[in-house]
Amino acid sequence: MQDMSSLRSTSDYSELLGTDGVLTEKLPGFAPRTTQQVLAAAVGRALSKQDTLIAEAGTGTGKTFAYLIPALLSGKRILISTGTRALQDQLYHRDLPAVREVLGMPVKMTLLKGRSNYLCRHRLGRILNSNEGLFDKTGSVRELAHIGDWARDTHSGEIAELGAVPENSPVWSQVTSTAENCLGQGCPEYARCFVIEARRRAQAADIVVVNHHLLLADMLLKEAGFGALLPGVDAVIVDEAHQLPDIATQHFSMGLSSRQLQELVQDTRREYRETAADTPGFESGLAKVETSLTDLQQRFSQVASRTEWRELHPQQGLQTALHALDTTLQQLGQALEMLAERSTGMDNCRQRMAGVTTRLGQFVEEDQAEEHVRWVERHGRGFSLNLTPLDAADRFQACMQETHCAWIFISATLSINGGFAHFRERLGLAETQELLLGSPFDYENNALLYLPSNLPDVNIPGYTSAVVRAALPVIRASGGRAFLLFTSHRALQEAAEQLRGRLDFPLLVQGEAPRRRLLERFRELGNAVLLGTASFWEGVDVKGPALSLVVIDRLPFASPGDPVMKARLAALARQGHEPFIEYQLPQAVLALKQGVGRLIRDDTDTGVLMLCDPRVTQKGYGKLFLESLPPMQRTRKLEEVQTFLARILPICVRQVPV
Ligand code: SF4
Repeated sequence: MQDMSSLRSTSDYSELLGTDGVLTEKLPGFAPRTTQQVLAAAVGRALSKQDTLIAEAGTGTGKTFAYLIPALLSGKRILISTGTRALQDQLYHRDLPAVREVLGMPVKMTLLKGRSNYLCRHRLGRILNSNEGLFDKTGSVRELAHIGDWARDTHSGEIAELGAVPENSPVWSQVTSTAENCLGQGCPEYARCFVIEARRRAQAADIVVVNHHLLLADMLLKEAGFGALLPGVDAVIVDEAHQLPDIATQHFSMGLSSRQLQELVQDTRREYRETAADTPGFESGLAKVETSLTDLQQRFSQVASRTEWRELHPQQGLQTALHALDTTLQQLGQALEMLAERSTGMDNCRQRMAGVTTRLGQFVEEDQAEEHVRWVERHGRGFSLNLTPLDAADRFQACMQETHCAWIFISATLSINGGFAHFRERLGLAETQELLLGSPFDYENNALLYLPSNLPDVNIPGYTSAVVRAALPVIRASGGRAFLLFTSHRALQEAAEQLRGRLDFPLLVQGEAPRRRLLERFRELGNAVLLGTASFWEGVDVKGPALSLVVIDRLPFASPGDPVMKARLAALARQGHEPFIEYQLPQAVLALKQGVGRLIRDDTDTGVLMLCDPRVTQKGYGKLFLESLPPMQRTRKLEEVQTFLARILPICVRQVPV
């Protein structure tokens, strides 16, 4: 095998990843790709020169191996961040071990999840030892008992290990920690803490796999007291990097939820009863906070689910209710100051109370600042107050500068019409190396873009019915095997109603079963029609004829009514920019590219993309969407679509009824 310690150029990587290379030799099913070799060389260069690289690699490039191989060969300490926990698992359990074995590199690697994925021994111990009936449902009591048994044996403390308790059980929030309620070094369980242990392993590893939320938390030192990961690494590789700007904006936001307040009251009451019950009058202070919180919750239940603060009506009495909550919290905070020394737990409650009142103060005061938006979101009976920056670029850039390492941003969807300006601006990136690699798949022969004619304006009430009417003959021609992707739940429901009983194929509708189950059914059935919104536009991989048609109802412009979007667009206009051209349009192009990416997933995949929105041909900006898509043949004629489908689908898979 060649000496792999000093690979730099594309030709070096061509040998390694080419037809005669070690990957082809040792990895069954490995398909050499020139674009993968180019990407690997670019990643290798960025790692050695400590550059910032932005790389878009179309579907099928094999981008994971293209960054893992130079990463492992570099001998550097590297943090790899992925978009979701599922991708983290796939990388850590499948791809990394495969590459490590093929290269014969004994690198130490670890997977680090957010703290809510690890049992908190301290909180579990307190609940098991307390007399308070926190859970009145028998199921929850049983689950708590399971957790107690498992806690005695587990080595990792990872909650996913315990299959007997579902990950969405409310019990978990009581026995896992948050950055706020963790006692850190003052915790009696510190020496045996699973979160600490996982971070220690991460600090000792060569390759650490995290997700974007953890990466951002680390950049912002939100995990104070646990030792940050970033100062010790030589490079950060961000996969699925298109998700990073939005996640960064979330992390740079300040938020306060009714649930956080309830948990704080609950923890404070427990601490008080255990350590300071001799102090009179404290319980009544807690009760006053609860009363004002309930009052505020009731008032928020009347407002729309996501509303900008300045649009709330004064007559709803929200400001008065907020002032009342603020006052009761401040009074309780003063009482807590006197009791903080009773225990580490009580001191933690005092600190949290101080943090909460500071955050609440941002909403109580009149707001004049234009660089952020204040808004409220309802969740069931609860709410959250949010202060979101309109531009995360400066802060992201400042955090990134402090790391002094290479940064590599990779995704299949980062460019708009061949350029990366939009992505660069959103993260404030400067002095970047850039690489744009198209998909190696034969889109020209294997895919057809259908732009149906005669569809009405997207804003008229009958638009979704027209989409369904136009899609029906295509769905029949593809024998089902279709994803219908919508930009709103309302359109999805309307289409689902209209399709029921009119198809000879199984209909799967988002919301009727969990996403994972719907996808399993879709693959098993082989001729199903699946209707989905946002979460089906990306991260879904269905290879082969089971998915031969993707129908997109509208261009995926984000809702201009969303409070953050609305404020961001207004801010851009104030600064003399063109919000539609500079923000809404590029965002929609990237979202469309994600949706389109569902269709062709490997060399032999074939299919039709039906893009219904008439604006794509009628508006000047439509060209930008079309030019950002892979190079497919286009048609406006249904007959040509039917002929194409008849050619690509074998007779046995066409017109197969339920
Ligand atoms: S240190 Fe924090 S996470 Fe660890 S056991 Fe203590 S409270 Fe829980």
